Amino acid sequence: MRAMLLDAPGRPLRAVELPMPVPGPGQVLVRVEACAVCRTDLHLVDGELPHPKLPVIPGHEIVGEVVRCGAGIERLRPGLRVGIPWLGHSCGRCWYCLHEAENLCDAPGFTGYTIDGGYAEHAVADAAYCFPIPEAYGAVEAAPLLCAGLIGYRTLMMAGQAERLGIYGFGAAAHIVAQLATFQGRRVHAFTRPGDVAAQAFARGLGAAWAGGSDEPLAEPLDAALIFAPVGSLVPTALQAVRKGGTVVCGGIHMSDIPSFPYHQLWGERVLRSVANLTRRDALEFLALAPQVPVRTETTVYPLDQANRALDDLRHGRLQGAAVLVPA
Ligand SMILES: [Zn+2]
Ligand SMILES: [Zn+2]
Repeated sequence: MRAMLLDAPGRPLRAVELPMPVPGPGQVLVRVEACAVCRTDLHLVDGELPHPKLPVIPGHEIVGEVVRCGAGIERLRPGLRVGIPWLGHSCGRCWYCLHEAENLCDAPGFTGYTIDGGYAEHAVADAAYCFPIPEAYGAVEAAPLLCAGLIGYRTLMMAGQAERLGIYGFGAAAHIVAQLATFQGRRVHAFTRPGDVAAQAFARGLGAAWAGGSDEPLAEPLDAALIFAPVGSLVPTALQAVRKGGTVVCGGIHMSDIPSFPYHQLWGERVLRSVANLTRRDALEFLALAPQVPVRTETTVYPLDQANRALDDLRHGRLQGAAVLVPA
């Protein structure tokens, strides 16, 4: 099968021909129909994530058809369209796994990071971490739901009942969260890079009540803010934007350093927290909710062998919504 391989951080992905992977017990072989490109893939390629499997096939927003089941699988069968997300394995034994926090597992496996992912024609995955895709979605359209959607959903849930919601960084995750939040009756304030009027118009088109640069004054204090941009200086900015008792949630896996700020910006029982990974329950909840909204994804399709170009376009903010790789 063809795949795009990361040999070492800092290098472009390399197109390779690999033997067809064989599913072991409890695993499925999936013919990849689409795999979305996540900012986490950029952090992986840039060496900002510790201890990746190397070489590794990136990609953790996989949609494809089950073509073969390993021994002992009852829940899935060949022909079924499934999604494979970032959480590829959890140990089931550690304190976190036993307390409904498998996203924080001490011995996890992550798709496209410590397990080969979906920048390929086929992928093998643990069947217990695969999810049927709602029938309303095509493969390309569904791919960004698998991380931008899932982690975005978990991030939004951490904001509790917040009605006035700020979103910093209007990329793939934000464009899904904005639709979900609006559906839930929240008022979305979208903050983009100063002067990025295209992203601001995009945000308003997806239901944002207000959109502007992260340097612009607030129309009203926020109940909560979600940060999807990997920019640490947005943390004090967002803390200043939320009311007393408000929450700031960092949704990304990596961020530049957070500058120091005076304690009074946190004072008033403001809460600052991160969101890490996802649980299978998040996936089930979000994939059931998405068709009700209905969440629509904006995608730009690239052939699989153009993965480096897709990553480059993401890096330079030349994308609206999500990039999706499709094996030609
Ligand atoms: Zn991701
Ligand atoms: Zn565990």
